[in-house]
Amino acid sequence: MTDYLNELNESQREAVLYNEGPSLVIAGAGSGKTRVLTYKIAYLLDNGYEPWSILALTFTNKAAREMKERIARQVGQERARYLWMGTFHSIFSRILRAEAEALGFTPNFTIYDATDSKSLVKTIIKEMNLDDKVYKPGMVQGRISNAKNHLVLPEAYAANAELIEADRAAKVPLLHEIYLRYWNRCRQSDAMDFDDLLLYTYLLFRTRPDICDKYAARFRYILVDEYQDTNFAQHSIVLQLTQKHQFVCVVGDDAQSIYSFRGANIDNILNFTRTYKDARLFKLEQNYRSTQTIVNAANSLIAKNRDQIQKEVFSEKDKGEPIGVFAAYSDVEEGEIVTNKIAQLHAKSGYAYHDFAILYRTNAQSRIFEEALRKRSIPYRIYGGLSFYQRKEVKDVVAYFRLAVNPHDEEAFKRVINYPARGIGNTTLGKLTEAAGRCEVSLWKVLCEPLSYGVELNKGTYTKLQGFRDLISEFVTLAREQDAYTLGMELVKRSGIMAEIYQDRSPENMSRQENIEELVNGMRDFCDGRQEEGSPHVLLSDYLSEIALLTDQDEEQGEAQPKVTLMTIHSAKGLEFPNVFVVGLEENLFPSPLSSASYRALEEERRLFYVAVTRAEDHCYLSYAKSRFKYGKMEFCNPSRFLKDIDVRYLQVPQEELMGTRIEEKASRFRKEASRASYEREPRETGPSMFDGGPMPEEPHRFVPPRTLRRIPDASPSAAPAGPSAGGLSAGMWIEHERFGKGEVTRVEGNGDNCKATVQFQHAGVKQLLLKFARFKII
Ligand code: ATP
Ligand code: MG
Repeated sequence: MTDYLNELNESQREAVLYNEGPSLVIAGAGSGKTRVLTYKIAYLLDNGYEPWSILALTFTNKAAREMKERIARQVGQERARYLWMGTFHSIFSRILRAEAEALGFTPNFTIYDATDSKSLVKTIIKEMNLDDKVYKPGMVQGRISNAKNHLVLPEAYAANAELIEADRAAKVPLLHEIYLRYWNRCRQSDAMDFDDLLLYTYLLFRTRPDICDKYAARFRYILVDEYQDTNFAQHSIVLQLTQKHQFVCVVGDDAQSIYSFRGANIDNILNFTRTYKDARLFKLEQNYRSTQTIVNAANSLIAKNRDQIQKEVFSEKDKGEPIGVFAAYSDVEEGEIVTNKIAQLHAKSGYAYHDFAILYRTNAQSRIFEEALRKRSIPYRIYGGLSFYQRKEVKDVVAYFRLAVNPHDEEAFKRVINYPARGIGNTTLGKLTEAAGRCEVSLWKVLCEPLSYGVELNKGTYTKLQGFRDLISEFVTLAREQDAYTLGMELVKRSGIMAEIYQDRSPENMSRQENIEELVNGMRDFCDGRQEEGSPHVLLSDYLSEIALLTDQDEEQGEAQPKVTLMTIHSAKGLEFPNVFVVGLEENLFPSPLSSASYRALEEERRLFYVAVTRAEDHCYLSYAKSRFKYGKMEFCNPSRFLKDIDVRYLQVPQEELMGTRIEEKASRFRKEASRASYEREPRETGPSMFDGGPMPEEPHRFVPPRTLRRIPDASPSAAPAGPSAGGLSAGMWIEHERFGKGEVTRVEGNGDNCKATVQFQHAGVKQLLLKFARFKII
């Protein structure tokens, strides 16, 4: 039954088998930490733990999904299915919805994304008549976020002399007041931002020991991956839940701590054995991912950091090739060199395109690589950048969805009260906002009874507001009854957005139409997926909870075509690829200019470089450009100091003559580019991340649209094709599913409406399909 234990080395097995108390696995990259967690869960399931009594917290939802699939293969789909696995944010938002009332929220509370939070901060700064050049919204938001991650509530903030002094020194003495207003406004809007999801969980468990005990008793074992990047709030919640029983296992690598700008605290891992007195410490030393050269290179690099736990890491894989370093004349040439190399390895060594990753420090760097890949027709997938859910038209539609589920949502309300235009101007909105602020209620409440909140309106405006109120009220009623997809379609039409964007076929409107269609199709896929999993009625609120917490790596599953991956190093954490290109190794880019101020920041950048190099299995390449376009002008760059941190024995240093074009040719091209490009390029929009290149892994974004675009059908969902009847299907058959791709049926059970098939898909793992709803064909 536990054959899988043979797939572990001695120290990994020891770590998996120790389940008598708290444990900490601390080890370098690629040494099997995530594998230990996965196998431990399987082992616990085989040794009396019920799936719902195990809670595993991962860095992305995708990581959780993959872990679950792996465990399903070891212990069976049925048991793996009920495990509690996901990011801190997604798991605790589920708990918060269930317990919302204890905190004065409703179960349908909205989750504000980073853009919503910033917009609210801006509004408050304006209302307080503060100068937004001094009170920069991004900075204010960062300070509020930091306070929340340290579990500091507004009152405590205002009473904390040290914080107040720091704000005064930073010339933002009224920050505590903004924080308080922000806090109240979120509550009035029945909304939580990302940090609130942690903070309120902590408060819930602190103020309601009965609720804390309930979950502590339910989760008999808690496991955390990437523990080095947890913040104080996350650490405290884990402690609340495990203090009594102490069954907790965390794994991490201090050398890969890269999220301190978001409050991650490396001390959590360093102090673990102090927090949990009886904790057993396990170390893993063998790297199974990378060649010896890559492991040695990474070791030599991280040794330059002063603050670290000493670790041995070795590899018994092949020695491998030295790490190639490419020097390019310009950023454009860097793109070409990298794509040439990809094409070459693909053709000569037989790597598929999904065996390649291009990793960069900031999202803005992706564009050059996209262009180069497109030129060569190499398929790629880009993570990050301006996400699907941040596009204006998508946000507009989603704002209607949000209001239908929670009409108190202030950000959604402000977004669409006059979109499409219905003659409600800023003056009217100003009156409503003023009354809402004065009476400490939501805008929606004021809208419903303007007179009782002292808002004077003329007849015409009153009628227009009533029209909007009636529309939303109706949506609210429908949201309780209709399924998400049907309602979504209805809302797109009834809100007037459909008419607005379908009025002409201008290129902008065409692209908006496509985006809305993608959105609606995505909803249909979501509903189908849920139905196949056995929940026939999928509400809009389910859909919204899902999309609010999509992360960088949460992609559509079952992608048929292999693609090169483009992502920031931050989002590549935990992943591995046969061939990795770490690009843009230049001073003032990597390390980032922000880091030169302190050695701590510089060490974090170096850890980031360590993360990048250790993603590679077979080949790693480093590249830099000698000139680059930044903010619309050409800048000259020096190679990154990090290149010198790697022992030269593991590097293949540039030999310019060997790199494709000859030097004179390059110089003349470079001059041409320099004269041309200043008006050709604008900085790429990078979405709402608080820190360029430090993407928020738990931002709601990175929607990967469904593979095929379909037009919005006019008819009801009955127009959707039904899956074949169960009759023809049996184990051993192959099917092609509309979303999951090809797979083999391993089991068929139940009959009639309840007939289910278990299918092992080639790319999407094991799925159970409820045949009544499933969309597939037998092949
Ligand atoms: P990171 O620090 O990057 O998160 P990690 O320590 O979590 O890395 P894993 O991702 O668990 O490492 O493992 C790295 C790779 O090595 C994976 O492909 C994993 O399947 C493989 N691996 C780990 N342990 C073994 C083993 N005992 N035998 C064979 N392969 C192994
Ligand atoms: Mg890992």
